[in-house]
Amino acid sequence: MTEAVLKLTILGSGTSTGVPVLGCHCAVCSSTDPRNNRTRCSALIEWSDHKVLIDTATDFRHQALRQGIEQVDSVLYTHAHADHVHGIDDLRTFTLTTGQAIPVFAARSVLDRVQGLFSYIFCETDAPGYRPRLQLNPVDGPFGLFGQQVTPIPLVHGFGESLGYRVGSLAYVVDCSAIPESSWKLLQGLEVLVIDALRFREHQAHFSISEAIEVAGQLQVPRTLLTHLTHDIDHPRHSSDLPEGAEFAYDGQVVTVPLPGG
Ligand SMILES: [Zn+2]
Ligand SMILES: [Zn+2]
Ligand SMILES: [Zn+2]
Repeated sequence: MTEAVLKLTILGSGTSTGVPVLGCHCAVCSSTDPRNNRTRCSALIEWSDHKVLIDTATDFRHQALRQGIEQVDSVLYTHAHADHVHGIDDLRTFTLTTGQAIPVFAARSVLDRVQGLFSYIFCETDAPGYRPRLQLNPVDGPFGLFGQQVTPIPLVHGFGESLGYRVGSLAYVVDCSAIPESSWKLLQGLEVLVIDALRFREHQAHFSISEAIEVAGQLQVPRTLLTHLTHDIDHPRHSSDLPEGAEFAYDGQVVTVPLPGG
């Protein structure tokens, strides 16, 4: 029997503007290194032949083409900022193929916001071909999905809130500027942490690189991927400055961890 694994693909490692930033000609935005080319922040996690999307980023269609995603079995939303939800319409293609609604999980307030932003999706009188079919599930604690437990991690995101998600020993924690006291216990014993680390300078709504590294150190995580990166980060140039166990995420990067109960 082969060991069950959880596979995470970084679909997008960039901040809300993406990198290159429109109109910017800095060294990173002009770089030919593909690791400096960052689409909007999103990830795909896979286990037991199921593909679960974390957020539908603005660049979702491009990301799905690049990674060969031909199936989406569920979507977990972190929060409703534009860069994390605006690719939602491209779920339409997948629901047209299967005829099945995709189960979507998010905080109640995020689902309300998505329904407000994309009211056409939930207009039952419109033809299904013009809107993705989604089945909304508000989350307020751990839930089962395709045989695994998914644990939402409440986070502070500036003046708002966000949800990280944990499956097995992997946690995906964006967008966040602080981790509430009660969420630290949900992040113990991780093997891989993917965490918001916007840039070197501090920001009111995101961890800086040093703050994210400090969180990883406190949690004693062996491997940390820093994501949601701006054009301040030159992947090849700045990678050597990171402590052991920390790395800058890049689009298309894949990490795996063993899954319990395999
Ligand atoms: Zn964001
Ligand atoms: Zn730039
Ligand atoms: Zn955000």
